[in-house]
Amino acid sequence: MKTRLVLLVIMVMLVITVVFWALSLDLNLLGRLYLRYLSILFAPLGLIFIFLQFVFVSRIKIIESGFGLDRMFRWHRVFGRIGLILVFLHMILIVLYRFREFGELMPGIFLWIGILALLGFITTAGLAATYKKLGLAYEVWRNIHLVNYLLFPLVLIHVFFYTEAGSNLYYFWLLLAVLFMAIMIYRLVRIITIRSNPYEVVEVRQEAEDIWSLFFKGPRLSYKPGQFLFIQLIRNNTLSSPHPFTISSSPTAEHLSITPKMLGDFTMTIKDTRVGDRAIIDGSYGVFSFLNYSRGEPVFIAGGVGITPFISMLRYMYDHKINKKVTLFWANRSEKNLCFQEELAKIEKEMPGFKVVLVMSDQPDWQGEKGHLKGQMILSYIKNIENKEFFICGPPAMSRATFFELKQLNVPPSRIHRELFEL
Ligand SMILES: Cc1cc2nc3c(=O)[nH]c(=O)nc-3n(C[C@H](O)[C@H](O)[C@H](O)COP(=O)(O)OP(=O)(O)OC[C@H]3O[C@@H](n4cnc5c(N)ncnc54)[C@H](O)[C@@H]3O)c2cc1C
Repeated sequence: MKTRLVLLVIMVMLVITVVFWALSLDLNLLGRLYLRYLSILFAPLGLIFIFLQFVFVSRIKIIESGFGLDRMFRWHRVFGRIGLILVFLHMILIVLYRFREFGELMPGIFLWIGILALLGFITTAGLAATYKKLGLAYEVWRNIHLVNYLLFPLVLIHVFFYTEAGSNLYYFWLLLAVLFMAIMIYRLVRIITIRSNPYEVVEVRQEAEDIWSLFFKGPRLSYKPGQFLFIQLIRNNTLSSPHPFTISSSPTAEHLSITPKMLGDFTMTIKDTRVGDRAIIDGSYGVFSFLNYSRGEPVFIAGGVGITPFISMLRYMYDHKINKKVTLFWANRSEKNLCFQEELAKIEKEMPGFKVVLVMSDQPDWQGEKGHLKGQMILSYIKNIENKEFFICGPPAMSRATFFELKQLNVPPSRIHRELFEL
């Protein structure tokens, strides 16, 4: 539904652009200038898509809170490619036109500025799609990707130079330039604000062999249980790059917490964090919360450390005495991977509607459910599937497989909500 709304808005913007373009055509010259006219059309169409990329990734709260950052990052990837194809077509058509009419390219620096920007966009997009295969660290790729914020002004310089002042197109570029500036100012103010209000680590707690929780005190952060934040730790006077983590505490708790699993360069160092270290926290983001979908009874499905949004929601329900009927399926390799065990047992004992089903994929002597989470297993615990709202959080493969199992049970996709630990 939300994706359709965004598609509708984009369609309207594109149609308006085409109408203004059509109105500016000289029909008598159409036969001779069609390559030029088409090229001129592809420039604003492409730049709408490219401009939207900055809207999608700039963490603009008022927009993000309606859609969720993960969905906006997905749009960023899809629409960014469409934008590049359109701008590329613009370039090809104008080159063809120039060679047919004049036998040469337009001379001048502004042409090369446009080409440079396009090549820059193509390079950063290509790296985004291939950085893992190329063995590049996430941070390296991300820093290169930030160059796009410099490339867009170059594009604007290029288009302004070739547009007649006072034309429809001129005002269109002006609008894009103003909106782009507004986004830049928003991000800058936000960065300055969060950096000048750091948090302080008050506890570092081991939850399992490779899972640690960090607790913070600092400015009151407004969040719903299940949402996430971006954190930069300041340790030994060094600021880490920002990493996203679900907020594992409940908004009712005194201290904010996250619970990272040791997986890579940054998370391996979480255990070295000391009480008194500081953190820059940007949040809260995401729409993965039972509070956003309260039509049916929640069924939580977690894989491994994907338990974090659910522990936040369960803590919230417990503190608010919300006695909903809730079932938590938690898939893990073995008992060794479990955390929050005592707390879950306590909530299960005191919240009569709550049940935990632990599923182990790699522990033959496990007394409970074994193997992978299957539709039939879910059905055996949940009788009335129609009035349920499903929430899945876990590794991408597990999340996809469980989504498929639920669809096989005829659960409508609008009742399945997913948080992927991947942006
Ligand atoms: C919404 C969301 C919530 C998350 N919640 C949790 C949680 O509660 N607990 C938990 O253990 N993990 C969580 N993660 C995953 C966590 O962000 C990554 O495991 C962590 O950033 C990996 O960093 P690394 O340097 O240790 O690993 P690396 O080996 O460097 O990276 C492993 C993968 O993590 C991703 N990644 C790495 N760095 C970043 C970054 N700066 N920003 C975004 N993605 C990155 C990339 O896909 C990368 O390929 C969450 C991720 C998202 C998107």
